[in-house]
Amino acid sequence: MEGAEINTLFGELRSAAFNSLAALDIRLSFIDTEEDLGAVVYGAKGDSFVIQLSRADITAMSKDALIGCLAHELAHIEKDTEGGSGISELARNFVPSMTANDEREVDRMVIAKGYGRQLLALQTYHDEHYEPYNASDGLTRDEIMALVERRLE
Ligand SMILES: [Zn+2]
Repeated sequence: MEGAEINTLFGELRSAAFNSLAALDIRLSFIDTEEDLGAVVYGAKGDSFVIQLSRADITAMSKDALIGCLAHELAHIEKDTEGGSGISELARNFVPSMTANDEREVDRMVIAKGYGRQLLALQTYHDEHYEPYNASDGLTRDEIMALVERRLE
């Protein structure tokens, strides 16, 4: 997808599932990087956020994988700002907070919001293009599928 389309998709995702973050200044930036496909950069005062996306990946990945990626990064912000109420003391001192526990909790938040299928698409894309995820990087494929199925019961 292209930048303008992605910004539209991002706006739709924010209003559909991340209303708690409506007051926060969150922008997308498309960068040339080989490190990872997405990351959140926190403004110095903790009140602005930039989600950096790899330019090569956004053109290569499916729309579902892209939604999974945006939802995952937004969930990081929701978690670190305690639901949009302000950046937590913990996040302020340990930004970016990227512990394995965070990744797993963030994935659970994404599934709870109804984006488990997109999270799986993201994971499939990621594992084809980067070092495959393991349990310390986030929920495993089997764990995501189990949670998605439980949600649909
Ligand atoms: Zn993450």
